[in-house]
Order: sequence, then C-alpha cells, then structure tokens
Amino acid sequence: MQETTAAKNQEELKNQRRNERIVRNMQHVSNKYLRRIYEIPIVPQSLEYFSNILKRIFVENKSVERDNGVKLIGTYCVMVPQELIYAAGCIPVKLCSGSYTAYNIGDEFTPRDACPLVKSSIGFASMNLVPIYDECSMVIVPTSCDCKKKMVSILAKYNDNVIPLHVPTIKLDDELKNSYIEDIYALKKAIESISPKKISYSRLKAATEAIAVAQREIYRLYSLKMHSPSVIKGTHAMIAMNSYSYDRIDRWAKALRILNDELELRIESKRYVAKPNAPRIMVTGSPVVFPNIKIPLLIEEMGGIFVADETCMGERGLYDPVAVTENSLDGLIRALAIKAILPCSCPSFVNNDQRIFKLKQMIEDFKVQGVIYHVLRGCLVYDYEYFAVEDALRSMDIPIIRVETDYNEEDVEQLRIRIEAFVELIKFKNMED
Ligand code: SF4
Ligand code: SF4
Repeated sequence: MQETTAAKNQEELKNQRRNERIVRNMQHVSNKYLRRIYEIPIVPQSLEYFSNILKRIFVENKSVERDNGVKLIGTYCVMVPQELIYAAGCIPVKLCSGSYTAYNIGDEFTPRDACPLVKSSIGFASMNLVPIYDECSMVIVPTSCDCKKKMVSILAKYNDNVIPLHVPTIKLDDELKNSYIEDIYALKKAIESISPKKISYSRLKAATEAIAVAQREIYRLYSLKMHSPSVIKGTHAMIAMNSYSYDRIDRWAKALRILNDELELRIESKRYVAKPNAPRIMVTGSPVVFPNIKIPLLIEEMGGIFVADETCMGERGLYDPVAVTENSLDGLIRALAIKAILPCSCPSFVNNDQRIFKLKQMIEDFKVQGVIYHVLRGCLVYDYEYFAVEDALRSMDIPIIRVETDYNEEDVEQLRIRIEAFVELIKFKNMED
C-alpha cells in the first residue's frame, strides 16, 4: 500500500515537473519574440498596451482581463460572428495558436501532415495549463478546412461544449447561405444556453456598434499604413492586431485610437520609420499568429517594410463592415451571417476570384513592391491558390515568393537567406526604375 502511494506521488511529481517545463518553455519563446519586437526601431509608445496583452497571456500565463463571472467563449476563425458573444454578455477569445511549445504537444494527437496551427491549438487545449484555453465555457469551431473539421472531435475530449459551425463552401449559393443563417440561429441558442443574457435586438445592436467603433480605428490604421514613407513597422501593427484576440473590444478600440493618434502625429512631424525607397512588402497566406512571427520579423530585420498584412490575423480579421438592411433581430443576424461569408477572402471557399481582386487593390493602395506568400506546412487551401495569385501578380510585374514554414526555429536561417534575397531584389528593382 505504502509502495503504491509512493509510486503515485512520484508520478505526480514527474507530471508536475513536466508541466512546469512546458509552461517555462512557452514563456521563454513568447518573451524572446516580444523582446525582438522591441529591437525593431522605431517602436510607437502606445504599442505597450498591446504587447502587454500578449505578455499577460503568454508570458505571465494569465487569462483575459475581465469582471468576475464574465464567461469566455473560444473561437477558431474570423467566420464566427463575435457580436453574438458580446451580446450574450460574454467575451470572445480567438484560440488559433502560434505556439511552438503547444505544437510539439499537439503533434502527438494529430497526423503528421496536419497544419501546425491546428496541432498547436490542440496542444494548448490538451495541456490544461493555459488559462485562456481552460476557462472557455464554450468553443466554436467553423468547419472551414479539413484540419479544422477534424479538430472538432479532438477538442471535444477537453471541453464539453465544442460547437462545430458549418460554413458554406460556395458563397453565392442561396441554399447554402440560408442553411448558414440557420446555423447562426442555432449558435445563438447554444450561446444563450450558457450565458447570463438573452441575445435581444438591442443587445445585438449595441455589440455590433461596439465592434464598428473598433473597425473605424482599423480603417484609420489601414490608411496610416498606406503612407509612404512608412510611419509604423508592419511587425508593430501586427502585434496590435494579434492582441485583439485576447482583449475586450471597447478597451482594445480605445488603445488603437491612441496608437492611431500617435501615428498621425508622426506624419505631421515627418517622423518616419523607413526611408522612402525601403522595399514595401505584403504578406498573404496562412495566418501569422504570435509568437510565430518569424516572417514579419525577418522582413523588417532585412531592411524591408511589411506594409500590408492580408492574413486573417491582421486587419482583415475585423475589416468587413456589417450591412444592416432591416432593423430587427432577424435583419441583424442575417447581416452578420452575410458579413462573415461574402466579403471573406479565405481560400476555403470554392470560388475565390474576389481574393485576387482584393490583393490587386491592396497592392495599389499600399504601393506594394513584392509579396511573400506564406504557407504553413499542411495548409492545403492556401497552397492551392498560390498559382492563381502568382499569375495575377505576374501580370502586374510584382515579384512574389512562396515561403513554407512550420512551428519551429529550425527553418529560420533558410528563411533569412530567401527573404534577404527577396528584399535585395526589390531594392535592385527600385534602383533601376
Ligand atoms: S485562414 Fe481562413 S479558415 Fe483559417 S482561421 Fe483564417 S479565415 Fe478561418
Ligand atoms: S486554413 Fe490552413 S492554417 Fe487555417 S486551420 Fe486550415 S489548414 Fe490550418
């Protein structure tokens, strides 16, 4: 009997040490990337609010700051209308993960070729060590790609309330659109079953307006990033956008307003962060989630400017406005459903000509001189669309490279060489023009 208890204690001690090691590792990697962000000149003073959010979640290992009793609802994609969650008196938290530590753990439960974002998200959910994952009263997973679909049943082992949200694959198919609206109604009911408030018209309208305030600040940031010479490094802007996933919308929007004000002052005082001829680069493709920010960092460490972020963790995640045509609960729900699907440029849809159109528009607006097409290993939906994007960009004489990455640091040197050569190519092109 004594021997069994001793063996049990030893096992517990072993597990505890292992868990401490895992958390230390996550903190170490996150801290390292936060430091690198601050090594890129010139950091806006008001970036601290946003980097502190990432620090709180991934270094201090704390949860989202909120009043006692307010529930968190986890989401895994931009296709979940966050307005519903706020209207129910809860806070949404985006759980798509960029952690290398969690990736190694999730790797044990997933097939070799699953994408690292999903491996890492599953890793976090299984660890039982990270508050934002453990405290979610519900998790909503849009079935937008195969990896996400298969993630549903694995997550269900760790959370009793995992809701798959079926998203249509063809945008203009009326039948599919109506079935998605029905799914949003079902989602509303599911959220209400765990939330303190019913989702009434007035509450949903107020939540939509609160998000619209944040969107207006995003449009401001978007235009400020178009300025040439640049007034903000793209890596810094991306940190602000990434932190949105772990904060309450009103607080975050206020902080973004302060950042935008600071950037406007930079324009007035001609305080730029790059020379007028610095290569202007856009990143499109698979999501770039903190702390997996090696590509933006490499672009800017090599002398380029990451001016345009077309990934769904960037401005795109919150960009599309809700067009309400009927002032009723049904009108709002329909508008939210349509906003989540129609303007979305995610390649998980069958026909996505709109994405090419949007990329071309962004290239003009941001005066982009080169595009890095980011493919997370195993992310087939983005990889499939590479050729169409390459063709479209060739007709505009815009250089593009496809960069495949995984959640580790082993490929950093190889990426550095490729990105450096790409930045040099654009510099050379600029000299010729
Ligand atoms: S890439 Fe597409 S499916 Fe994946 S999280 Fe972003 S919007 Fe959703
Ligand atoms: S869209 Fe790509 S990155 Fe996102 S979950 Fe699917 S495979 Fe992973």
